[in-house]
Amino acid sequence: MRALLKGTRPGAVVHLPAGDAVVGFELAPDPGLGDALCKTVAPEVFFPEPGETAVAEVARELCERCPVRAACLEDALAAEGNARPYNRYGIRGGKDEQERYLIYRARRRAAEGEKVTNKCGSEPGYHRHRRDGELPCPACRDAYRTRRRGRRARARARKAVAA
Ligand code: SF4
Ligand SMILES: [Zn+2]
Repeated sequence: MRALLKGTRPGAVVHLPAGDAVVGFELAPDPGLGDALCKTVAPEVFFPEPGETAVAEVARELCERCPVRAACLEDALAAEGNARPYNRYGIRGGKDEQERYLIYRARRRAAEGEKVTNKCGSEPGYHRHRRDGELPCPACRDAYRTRRRGRRARARARKAVAA
């Protein structure tokens, strides 16, 4: 499916997975980013298809030399919010979808004070994995199962007392 992104220059066409929400990229990203280097090339360069590593490299190289790179990256992160990597599109500020997601996540964790309470091997750790769209690690799965078993046993005990 080909879709036109809101805010892109006329004729800027990018590929989007069907049905996915459009988040983020606008060329040039922000009116304040007047020196955006990506304005000088075909927008497609910044939306490489999976496997188009050479194209992605060109985009990254342009970003590397772009005078508004830092502002552009912040702009993208702000626009994308807590979107999952598959709901982020293109290369912005030199970072691809996954990289921007990881930056968002690292910042969120830092802001949360990297809670000691959701370390791996705990039930909160299990929920942290889930919230981040990851498969919980074995230690967290074990912790979750143990806690769940405990809760069920206590519930059974309460029932037995009530009966
Ligand atoms: S950093 Fe990259 S995506 Fe952002 S304005 Fe510059 S060239 Fe465009
Ligand atoms: Zn874990």
